[in-house]
Amino acid sequence: MGAPEAFTQTNDIGHWIGGRATPGQGGRRQPVWNPATGAVARQVLLASADDVNAAVAAAKAAQPAWGNLPPLRRARVLNAFLALMNQHKDTLAAMITAEHGKVFTDAQGEVMRGIDIVEFACGVPQLLKGDYTDQVSTGIDNWTLRQPLGVVAGITPFNFPCMVPCWMFPVALACGNAFILKPSERDPSASLFMAELLQQAGLPDGVFSVVQGDKLAVDTLLSHPDVAALSFVGSTPIAQTIYETGARHGKRVQALGGAKNHMVVMPDANIEQAVDALIGAAYGSAGERCMAISVAVLVGDVAERIVPLLAERARTLKVKNGMELDAEMGPIVTREARDRIENYIAIGVEEGAQLVVDGRGHRVPGFEQGFFTGGTLFDRVTPSMRIYKEEIFGPVLACVRVPDFASALALVNGHEYGNGVALFTSDGGVAREFSRKVQVGMVGINVPIPVPMAWHGFGGWKRSLFGDVHAYGEEGVRFYTKQKSVMQRWPDSIGKGAEFVMPTSK
Ligand code: NAD
Repeated sequence: MGAPEAFTQTNDIGHWIGGRATPGQGGRRQPVWNPATGAVARQVLLASADDVNAAVAAAKAAQPAWGNLPPLRRARVLNAFLALMNQHKDTLAAMITAEHGKVFTDAQGEVMRGIDIVEFACGVPQLLKGDYTDQVSTGIDNWTLRQPLGVVAGITPFNFPCMVPCWMFPVALACGNAFILKPSERDPSASLFMAELLQQAGLPDGVFSVVQGDKLAVDTLLSHPDVAALSFVGSTPIAQTIYETGARHGKRVQALGGAKNHMVVMPDANIEQAVDALIGAAYGSAGERCMAISVAVLVGDVAERIVPLLAERARTLKVKNGMELDAEMGPIVTREARDRIENYIAIGVEEGAQLVVDGRGHRVPGFEQGFFTGGTLFDRVTPSMRIYKEEIFGPVLACVRVPDFASALALVNGHEYGNGVALFTSDGGVAREFSRKVQVGMVGINVPIPVPMAWHGFGGWKRSLFGDVHAYGEEGVRFYTKQKSVMQRWPDSIGKGAEFVMPTSK
């Protein structure tokens, strides 16, 4: 592959409302950084309450006709969008690298995982079929159907500016809803680009809107009487607030939160494979993935064998500008995030963890102002330490030593988060026991980052998800539709006069 073309646009990033780009009424703006150079690349305009209200009004006006279209016609628009996404996937990936910092090939992977959901959504008509029972009583039939909710909104995090919105809007649109996206203000370009592609694909104006913004935009969506449901992905404190506030306003809410994902390595695991898995899952995307592995649970004598190998790999990671094709890890999204991560490393040292590899102060030649930090490795971390309990969201791997499988399982189950988990072993019985008993929503056996495929649905347990259903897949279809039951009888079977008892099957 030749060098990818960098994304270099510098104009302001506004909203997409009623089928056109608009700067909105807000007037507030905030810088969008290129984390590799440390320079401000663009400004994002932050929505006012009036901007959000305008997007909701456009969505409310457009939704009835969209929701009334035969599902196959909606799916055809998504099919056209799918083709455009495939055509422009490298443009999107370059946008993501420019604003998020992740390496270009990883950004390409993110776009592909987003495209997977669009593909799934093209087949949603199959899942909108209802159930039918002929003759529930003599001359009476009963069936169920699923109908759209109306106007729904999605609030998404910085770490997957294409994939996470794609967890939501393709499914919501396929089900007949109008969708308003409030993306992360740290990397907002991808959302606007996808809005343009949706329009090119034939989506009617108003059915999909983007409002850039911060808490003000989110609060306006949360309390708006015309927004029926909210999907949120981000950190746990915000997820919990969104869930509680949305519910108070009578909305359906799914709010996916933070994580602290463990990977348990059993003494019978293939150690080379486990090292590769840990290095990729801990340091890929600089650890800024909700499914990143941040805790290695080393059972029995595994620590003695694996820590030296991990240390060597962590020290020699290729930390570079993400547009360089041999880069393994790019910069952190912002200077504040980098400082927060490096502060956690200082906390770990104070708490008495053994700092095996210290990534702090990493400098990349030619990119001295970039928000880089290197890979960090701690050994002898204990469950009472903050670096074990809290989500660091950076390239910091904490090794915890445990004596046996039972203590590994108890450790994982004792953590407040339950997003993803992995077990490396060559024993099928242990693997089965682990996957049945672990209190985590997504489990990988010899798979370090078990992000479910488009038709399986994504979601954690415990404080990693507030709400009843997972994102995308059939769970997504259920979230974005409401069930209606219809019972029918025709005049030739009516005529017995008023009935005063609860009807039963006759
Ligand atoms: P964040 O919680 O700071 O922001 C997420 C979204 O909420 C953004 O759109 C942001 O503008 C908005 N927001 C921020 N503060 C707000 C407030 N006070 N009120 C209302 N809205 C607010 O998260 P982030 O830093 O963008 O993303 C990283 C976090 O997301 C990590 O905790 C990570 O684990 C989590 N995440 C979880 C999943 C998952 O599937 N469980 C997936 C990706 C990321």
